[in-house]
Amino acid sequence: MADSIAQQVRAAGIVGAGGAGFPTHVKFDSQVEIAIANGAECEPLLRCDKAVMRERGAEVLDGLSLLGQATGARRLIIALKAHYAPVVAAVREAIRSSFPRVELFLLDNYYPAGDEQVLVNAVTGRVVPEGGIPLNVGVVVDNVVTLRQVARAVRHGEAVTSRPLTVAGAVRQPLTCELPIGAPLQLAIDRAGGPTVSHWVAIDGGPMMGRLAAAANEPITKKTSGIIVLPNNHPLVQSKTSSIEREVKLGRTVCCQCRMCTDLCPRHLLGHDISPHLAMRTLLAAGLTEAPSSHITAAYLCCLCGVCDTYACTLGLSPRRVFEHMRAQLTAAGVRNPHQRKELTPHEFQALRRVPTERLIQRLGLGDYARAPEVVDWGAVEAPRVRLLLSQHTGASAQPVVAVGQRVERGELVAEIPEGKLGARLHASISGTVTAIDGHAVEIARS
Ligand code: SF4
Ligand code: SF4
Repeated sequence: MADSIAQQVRAAGIVGAGGAGFPTHVKFDSQVEIAIANGAECEPLLRCDKAVMRERGAEVLDGLSLLGQATGARRLIIALKAHYAPVVAAVREAIRSSFPRVELFLLDNYYPAGDEQVLVNAVTGRVVPEGGIPLNVGVVVDNVVTLRQVARAVRHGEAVTSRPLTVAGAVRQPLTCELPIGAPLQLAIDRAGGPTVSHWVAIDGGPMMGRLAAAANEPITKKTSGIIVLPNNHPLVQSKTSSIEREVKLGRTVCCQCRMCTDLCPRHLLGHDISPHLAMRTLLAAGLTEAPSSHITAAYLCCLCGVCDTYACTLGLSPRRVFEHMRAQLTAAGVRNPHQRKELTPHEFQALRRVPTERLIQRLGLGDYARAPEVVDWGAVEAPRVRLLLSQHTGASAQPVVAVGQRVERGELVAEIPEGKLGARLHASISGTVTAIDGHAVEIARS
């Protein structure tokens, strides 16, 4: 019997390409009413989702149709921002010519329009429960790059061996290109002509939610949607490198309880019981107690979007970092998420309090970089060696099924999902010889 679509997606090692890394086959194994292709791409400077929708739109819509087929969804919707006019035109044309069942939903230009829960609410009016996922309200959401990978897997049997990403910021030629998984970030930066400053750092992902790479030889993963190069004295870099001890001290001494962080928090505006200003007050006065208050456990409801610290707080404080720290402490202490309310009503001013992306870009000090002309280059990039991380997805690390010295071909399985666990398979992204295997990665050198 032919494999189901979910089995083919699992075999291809597909995970959420928008940054979450959740194994996609699990979503394909569910039953829902509505399937949404997430093309919001709300992180400033990133352009790879837009490029894929504009130039590979038919494959994205094919992936969405396969998602609908697998999940029984009666509505198929692609959501993207209205101000991406050429992308909207290309998607409209693809719908008209080949995918008449697909509906187009146009979003305003705000951040974080691509957050799954914000998107579900904007598109369907439904609110995902606290601590829940879109499946709880009959919806499944997949990123547009992920859906293209699904189409490639089902129609051509292709495993995930490369991905599109945007290289932006302080580089000579910002561009969107396709690179092998496991290639070093430096390869992408070279592809963009190299840095324009002598002292720089790279962010893996977007400027809001991406993390600082420790070194330029860190590998690209299935989740790397962008690489942002910035001078190492850029304020955004300094905010990402500030210690949690410093953030806590600053919050304790400076927070004026203006509650701007709460008023603009997208999860608070959805009706979730999260009020970052109260967390700042309670946490910084008392620390973690045996019975932490709901203001502290609200850390489980924070999506780390960064609206509170990069945009809302005029004093430069970081409720996000505090929540991130508290969440780690709560998890280590075995405290479970007590927030489980299901009937939620979004705030009456939700639509008025959205963060305009253009203003966010200015606030982040990225205006000059955002004006760079758009360049897309789909030409193949050769990587002499790759380092494939065994954990680049939600769930258990993949287990190597190859040995050092073994010859592998591009697309060949190199690591398998552990029996009975949530995870994703891993495939060779170049043809060559396995040169090293450790607890973290499989390395391959081209030969
Ligand atoms: S916006 Fe800043 S100063 Fe105001 S309550 Fe939040 S953390 Fe405190
Ligand atoms: S990062 Fe800040 S704004 Fe975003 S969900 Fe968490 S508390 Fe709210």
